[in-house]
Amino acid sequence: MSKAQVGLWLIGARGSVAATVILGLAALKRKLIEPLGSVSSLPQFARVGLAEWENFVVSGHEIRRGSLRDEITALVNQSRSPHLAEIADQCRPEIEQIDRRIRWGTIYRVGETIAGLADGEVPQDDSPRRTVQRLKDDMAAFVASEKLEHLVVINVASTEPPADVAGLPRRWSELEKLLDDSQCPLPASTLYAIAALEGGHSYINFTPSLGAAPAAIDELAGLRRTRHYGCDGKTGETLMKSVLGPMFAERNFKVLSWVGHNIFGNRDGRVLADPANKQTKIASKDRLLGEILGYRPHTLVSIEYVPDLGDWKTAWDHVHFSGFLGVPMTLQFIWQGCDSFLAAPLVLDLARFTELAWRRGVVGRMPFLASFFKSPLGLTEHGFERQFQMLVQWAATT
Ligand code: NAD
Repeated sequence: MSKAQVGLWLIGARGSVAATVILGLAALKRKLIEPLGSVSSLPQFARVGLAEWENFVVSGHEIRRGSLRDEITALVNQSRSPHLAEIADQCRPEIEQIDRRIRWGTIYRVGETIAGLADGEVPQDDSPRRTVQRLKDDMAAFVASEKLEHLVVINVASTEPPADVAGLPRRWSELEKLLDDSQCPLPASTLYAIAALEGGHSYINFTPSLGAAPAAIDELAGLRRTRHYGCDGKTGETLMKSVLGPMFAERNFKVLSWVGHNIFGNRDGRVLADPANKQTKIASKDRLLGEILGYRPHTLVSIEYVPDLGDWKTAWDHVHFSGFLGVPMTLQFIWQGCDSFLAAPLVLDLARFTELAWRRGVVGRMPFLASFFKSPLGLTEHGFERQFQMLVQWAATT
């Protein structure tokens, strides 16, 4: 059992997922809740020596002023769980302390919709290199002030539009030069990833934004002997696809079409209502079926912003498939989840498993974390159970 002080640096620190992480962690530290929804709290991981909740200290970057307290009040009101108001009250001192530590991030190449969320005080640096240095300094100051042994940086910021990365250099020594170029195509998510990895911290991308996906950034992780993984947390509809897809494949049913309609109304939904930002998310949600089935059925993923639904997401999926003698059949399911409360325990799990990976000296990508992601980097295994067994096996191996 580790007693190290571990930092958790959230990019998008006043957003819904981050606020739920902060509330949940504070409540877990005070033993006010059971760790329901937390994978790392399963008996399979009881003896692997994961850090305890009380070992974690939180801060992060944000581009909006707002307050964590207001974000949490809104989430609690929407959660249809009145007991959470009392829990939030008991955790208030820690929540307010974290809020005071949050630093200004960057809106470099985030697209118009995300830039529209930002406060006028977000610094405009002279160059992407200056931005990286500023972000790195913020993380280093946190490590020093809290006497942290390790820092896990997790991106839970808004989803960026697809980045124009065609022809991006594959070597870090080449990519690094772009940081001085006023036309540098790397979006904010990648600047944060560079800042984290250059600082020797671990980096996790819970969003479908570019982050540490380019080959040159992976090389940077290797050079700094640190680690990273992503992309895009698998929390609802896509989780169902990765469970049901292998069933269709292994019963030799032919999936003819898979249509999924998603409606929700939180800030993430507002950002994803922009067709450019939506494109990044749809690509991530649509990728896995072809790889699970070995062929590409007709697919459609829609995401619609319905403001009054708030954090409650409904996904309706219609799967048309044919069985013996070509007889057509249908499976339909409706998933209704409170989005941030699905995501938050997974963010905490990722922090715990990544901290363990740091203690075990893992360098580069961490494919054993694949079960947490819609688009696991460099991996074609999308079946949920097989991905989960990869995690169990890695955890059991010391
Ligand atoms: P949100 O809009 O509530 O929070 C995002 C926060 O990031 C906002 O506070 C915003 O101001 C901030 N932000 C935006 N750009 C930033 C930047 N460049 N630097 C620093 N902060 C920035 O959204 P959310 O519901 O908390 O979701 C967060 C992310 O997680 C989204 O990208 C979403 O697609 C992804 N995600 C969420 C789920 C889930 O909620 N179930 C699942 C998978 C992925």
